[in-house]
Amino acid sequence: MRVGIVGGGFAGLAAAIAFRDMGHDVTVFEKASGPSTAGGAISLAQNALRCLATLGLRNHLFDQAKSNVPATVRNSAGQVLVRSTLAQLTGGQEYATVPRHQLLSWLAEQLPPDCVRYSTAVLGSHADGTLNFGDSVRQFDLVVGADGPKSVIRRTLWPKAPALRFTGNTGWAWITDRQPSSGYGTIWGRTSQFGILPLADGRTYVYGGTCLPDIELASFSTWPDPLPELIDDARPDQMITPAVFEARPPRRLVRGKVALIGDAAHTMQPTFGQGAAIAMEDAVTLAHHGPTALSRRLPRMLALYGISKAGAYFATPRLAGLEASRNLALRLTPDPVFSLMAGSVGRWTPASL
Ligand SMILES: Cc1cc2nc3c(=O)[nH]c(=O)nc-3n(C[C@H](O)[C@H](O)[C@H](O)COP(=O)(O)OP(=O)(O)OC[C@H]3O[C@@H](n4cnc5c(N)ncnc54)[C@H](O)[C@@H]3O)c2cc1C
Repeated sequence: MRVGIVGGGFAGLAAAIAFRDMGHDVTVFEKASGPSTAGGAISLAQNALRCLATLGLRNHLFDQAKSNVPATVRNSAGQVLVRSTLAQLTGGQEYATVPRHQLLSWLAEQLPPDCVRYSTAVLGSHADGTLNFGDSVRQFDLVVGADGPKSVIRRTLWPKAPALRFTGNTGWAWITDRQPSSGYGTIWGRTSQFGILPLADGRTYVYGGTCLPDIELASFSTWPDPLPELIDDARPDQMITPAVFEARPPRRLVRGKVALIGDAAHTMQPTFGQGAAIAMEDAVTLAHHGPTALSRRLPRMLALYGISKAGAYFATPRLAGLEASRNLALRLTPDPVFSLMAGSVGRWTPASL
């Protein structure tokens, strides 16, 4: 089968590897001129690690795992609300955080160089499997729309699909050389939250999100340790400042010979750090089990979309009364029960389809 994949992000590259493993002839079309050098990192819960093992990246990741590192959920006054490990908080025995560009390079290295056509922006697609680029047109047995939140494939073939929506949340993400002796996990305030995660090479990944417009990162220098020292280390030229969007999945994920996966199918808030993981689940499912199996994933996509939205309000409830109730609820919930609930999103096996 000739498979044309639009987009060379996590979804597209994972799909390319999985389809090639199944013996198909694959071409990826990526509008950027080369592999992404985007900053920040990506946290890999159990389901992401399982997909990456299926794709042949197990060896890289074994070295990266920081599974048993103690992790807490704290409030902005520094009070510990939940005590656990990184793996438990994300639903399994293993956990890793990897720089985004590194994970994308590992995926790209699994493919022959001529499989990915960089600097090729797809302009549109038809349900019969044709893809348009400028003046030329190519026909495929299956087209995979993996072109991210602003997907041209979704826009042209799913014109009535729920639109991409700005959530009002923005943030910061950076990697620093500093290795704090403790304090990994998340800090949840009223309107803002931060996460501090260890990379395998000793560096630290920090991300923050807020619903307050125009607030400076330096305003959080009074938050609990080790955040202030990590903020001091943040270098503007290495920082990404994402705006958070979301889009509900459409009711059907397949139209004729075209299937949508990854953020093109479902853009969710990064509350649980699950977007890339779900994108790779989609890719592996589609390649190994076909479009019908992908369609059967809709309830999982909708559930994660909804939980990610609700989780964002739980982490930053905006009102003082709700913040106090959240803190109390977390203090009263036994730590293993919280870990079980938070980690449930990352529990997935291909066989469970
Ligand atoms: C702040 C933040 C933190 C996050 N943290 C995590 C995390 O820790 N763990 C996690 O699992 N997820 C996380 N996510 C979510 C994750 O980043 C996304 O879900 C993931 O990148 C989706 O992958 P994708 O391949 O579907 O889309 P993308 O990563 O957007 O890739 C799409 C690709 O398609 C290309 N493209 C677009 N249009 C065209 C076109 N017309 N022709 C050709 N190519 C095209 C783009 O250049 C891009 O390379 C986070 C998201 C945010 C916003």
